[in-house]
Amino acid sequence: MRKMIASLGALLLIAAAQPSSPTGQVNTARMSEITRVLASDEFQGRSPGTPGEDKTIPYLVDQFKAAGLEPAGENGGWTQTVPMIRTKLEAPSFSVRQGGQTTNWSFPGDVYFTTVRDTDAAKIAAAPIVFVGYGVHAPERNWDDFKGVDLKGKVALFLVNDPDFEAAAGEPAAGKFGGKAMTFYGRWVYKYDEAARRGAIAALIVHETDAAGYGWNVVKSGGGENYNIVLSPGALQPVLLQGWIQLPAAEALLKRAGYDFATLKRQARSPNFRPIDLHATFSADSKVELAHLTSRNVLGKISGSTLPNETVSYGGHWDAYGIGPPDAQGRTIRPGASDDALGLAAMLEVARLFKAQAAPPQRTVLFAAWTGEERGLLGSEYYAQHPLYPMETMAANLTFDTLQWAGPVRDAVLVGKGQSEMERYMEEAARAQGRYVTPENHPERGLFYRADHFSFAKRGVPVLLDMALAGAYDMAEGGREAGNRWLDAFTTNCYHQACDAWAPTWDLRGAAQEAELFYAIGARLANSREWPQWSAGSEFRQVRDKSASMRGNAPAKGERG
Ligand SMILES: [Zn+2]
Repeated sequence: MRKMIASLGALLLIAAAQPSSPTGQVNTARMSEITRVLASDEFQGRSPGTPGEDKTIPYLVDQFKAAGLEPAGENGGWTQTVPMIRTKLEAPSFSVRQGGQTTNWSFPGDVYFTTVRDTDAAKIAAAPIVFVGYGVHAPERNWDDFKGVDLKGKVALFLVNDPDFEAAAGEPAAGKFGGKAMTFYGRWVYKYDEAARRGAIAALIVHETDAAGYGWNVVKSGGGENYNIVLSPGALQPVLLQGWIQLPAAEALLKRAGYDFATLKRQARSPNFRPIDLHATFSADSKVELAHLTSRNVLGKISGSTLPNETVSYGGHWDAYGIGPPDAQGRTIRPGASDDALGLAAMLEVARLFKAQAAPPQRTVLFAAWTGEERGLLGSEYYAQHPLYPMETMAANLTFDTLQWAGPVRDAVLVGKGQSEMERYMEEAARAQGRYVTPENHPERGLFYRADHFSFAKRGVPVLLDMALAGAYDMAEGGREAGNRWLDAFTTNCYHQACDAWAPTWDLRGAAQEAELFYAIGARLANSREWPQWSAGSEFRQVRDKSASMRGNAPAKGERG
């Protein structure tokens, strides 16, 4: 009993120490408590398909219920089943043959590969290697590196990033792909998909640290392991092997084929570039340790009153990095407190703000806690391939992924500047809060393509991502300098590590500002007939335009035809 009183006292102290949000609408003590539970040791770092998931799902369902949501999962329930595979290459060997000479490529020294195919072996016998430059097919930019060259059964060798990353002023590629900012065409995921669409057996990207945005240590950190969702029969199969080649190994390969890397790169910055057959063949032999696992997305909603078939969606991911090797302090659980338990706590506050309104929203508002984000946006991707509410009539997706706990801020950080009208919605809502909008610090790192909102963007749904890692905030106390200090410390010590843990000292007033900002944007959309548009130059405009007729002004339920 005494113990209970003592801990109750501690809890009250915590609640008292938590200042409320600037407007008093968001309960920061509740956000803190939800984060504390999700990030506790019992939840084991919330890795999909583990006992940590079995704790997480019922807890989230309870939280969705407590926020007043209705179930929006499969068969009237709260979840969507997400079948996944986990693969790991075992004792792989790789070689390349050119002009009668065989060169072995060491793993993960010269090359790093994984597979996301549902297979127990990865064998490739003498597949021709074709250099495809940046490997970009962008009709909206009049750019096609492939020129119809057949890649069936071949290995596509790509440059990293997009054609204007290194283009000087006056070169034909300059400014065509957002300058230094990365477009989708620069991302490895685009390149692997493009290779798969063209029937290639493998895809290999030349690693350069600046253009990739990270070093070889990051490339190889997965240890040959990878994850995917189980694909439907008839779905496009991924390439059998996907990966990276270190720059010196690539330079040597090209040199033996009679080419100079720097010269080829210059040629690849021209729309006249054509793929080059390197007269080299690639062979691979690896066993694949294959496991099937089942995970779940959690989905809730508030049904729209007059436009129930049109939706506005919110999301965050429930998974974190699970249990890993001990860090310097012997900690093994990576609890993912800021990333993204706190994002889910903010989303639940948004749900409560909607429920607190006198009238329900006109459009349906969806709330999702995704699985497998850290394994490659798997839960949101599975949803996007098996949507329970159509993408065509989803007005927008707003995603929380990693919020900060250092206190109130004066600005809001925009990820993906120039992409869509959503940034105008964000500017207006931020201004109403007395905040201004700052573009992300490092657009060349392509954050816009690296969180769950992106699974929606790819299907044409306009999006916003709220991510504290995107830039240093202008903190109410200490300004940009204090924002930089928090961001540097978090990125260096805590991101995806044991250090990303909950603490009673957190000041969640800034996180509450984010919840209020996204609530304001979503509420505006949910009570209107507005359909935000992609910008003319966006990679995602075309796919949205194709379904324009589904977003007409058909009479809504309750209205006269
Ligand atoms: Zn995250």
